[in-house]
Amino acid sequence: MGRKSTFYVDIMDIHDKVTGSCHLCVVKDQYGENMKFIVDCGMFQEEGGDELNKKIPFNASEVAFCLVTHNHIDHTGRLPFLVQNGFSGNIYATETTCNLLPEALKDSCSIIKSRAKSTGTKPLYSDEDLEKTLSLCKPCAYDSTIRINDHVKVNFFQNAHLPGAAIILVRITSQGNDDINILFTGDYNNKNVFLNDVCIPEWVLELPITIVQESTYGDTDSSEIETCFNDNIIKAVKKEWTIIVPVFSLGRAQEILYRLKQLQEAGEIDKEIPIYLDGKLAIRYTNMYLNGLAGIRKDMLDFLPENLTYVDKILRKTLLSNEDNSCKIILASSGMGSYGPARSYIPAYLGNKKALIHFAGYTAVNTMGRRIKDAPYEEIVNAGGLLIKKRATVEYTSEFSAHARANIIIKFLKQFSKVQLILLNHGEPLVKEQLAPRILNEVSAKHVGILSRETLFRIDHFGFVKTIPTKFI
Ligand SMILES: [Zn+2]
Ligand SMILES: [Zn+2]
Repeated sequence: MGRKSTFYVDIMDIHDKVTGSCHLCVVKDQYGENMKFIVDCGMFQEEGGDELNKKIPFNASEVAFCLVTHNHIDHTGRLPFLVQNGFSGNIYATETTCNLLPEALKDSCSIIKSRAKSTGTKPLYSDEDLEKTLSLCKPCAYDSTIRINDHVKVNFFQNAHLPGAAIILVRITSQGNDDINILFTGDYNNKNVFLNDVCIPEWVLELPITIVQESTYGDTDSSEIETCFNDNIIKAVKKEWTIIVPVFSLGRAQEILYRLKQLQEAGEIDKEIPIYLDGKLAIRYTNMYLNGLAGIRKDMLDFLPENLTYVDKILRKTLLSNEDNSCKIILASSGMGSYGPARSYIPAYLGNKKALIHFAGYTAVNTMGRRIKDAPYEEIVNAGGLLIKKRATVEYTSEFSAHARANIIIKFLKQFSKVQLILLNHGEPLVKEQLAPRILNEVSAKHVGILSRETLFRIDHFGFVKTIPTKFI
């Protein structure tokens, strides 16, 4: 049994795993004030997530405002659907995220529309919902305090997960009480080759605070990362294979391009070998980087390898025909293989003995990437609806990951001197269960909890109050 509180926040999570990020926070105070806000409203991207995507499990019209941690579809993809369901509050995000968001949502919208067309169903939301969503966005500068209403102040702090990503501090005030402080890490990383390192201001580190911490890679340490990408690429190039690298459009695509440039400069791969980048959004983001997207380090603007070609529809057809067996490197979105041109390249080359398919990031359970990665060699695999014998070499590395490992998460948490409660989200259930006791051992937090769709956490200015079964509608 927890203590009785009159001013508290209930923190709920509508996703259990990695995709579909969305937290509903319900604030209540002793004067009967009741306010709801959400952090992120992402798309469930695991296969089978369609049913979850069709339902907002709370009354969207009662939500006062939305905070967005970063421009990844698993954090933003359902914002237009939220609007369709009656949400009309402001959407706060960093300036860079507000610049990136229209591209990402328009691309996602066109994928949704074409999938709806092919299945004869209604798209999740309309163009009008999308336009309205974009009109609600309020760009926020890093580090400055944004007063959202009489009760809430927020700050966006730099996060190396990707350009524009933020760690968000929410301070909730009620007269006569101490503030309730909550920090949402969003997807967190401490380092990024294109960005400056993360630095949380001293005054934040000293706040009594609840931290909602992502845990995607909470079951591994940095020392376990196998840095095999360069070797695998060099080996495949020597054998004159075709190399397919599924990439996330934002961040990963640019980082891999930079890595290939480094390999060229070191003389490890011949500059004559053609490199292709396929994915409208990946190309647009690459151009935004080149044009000095806010936050990108100025000394990193020259990151493209030589002999790079952006792929259009006609060229894609040639590349997919599999007729040309000469050595080439094709970067194609999306990173998990379930969407975008990668969804075509993977089946096209999976049966080819002279191909390397190299995943370079997290592949969620039930995505094409995970299935192909896990399938034994020469097993028949369902790749985008086609049954193909796996004859290509399939490799994976997590060395580019934009998510911190357990030891880095713990290092981050240890900086805070008065942590009241740590709530783990954004991780496979088993990973969260593994990370929780480790945090309890190594970080001086009073409580560590695991967020799920089933249980909400009530907190007040002393921290943890109690858990309650969540009653989503
Ligand atoms: Zn992310
Ligand atoms: Zn995420």
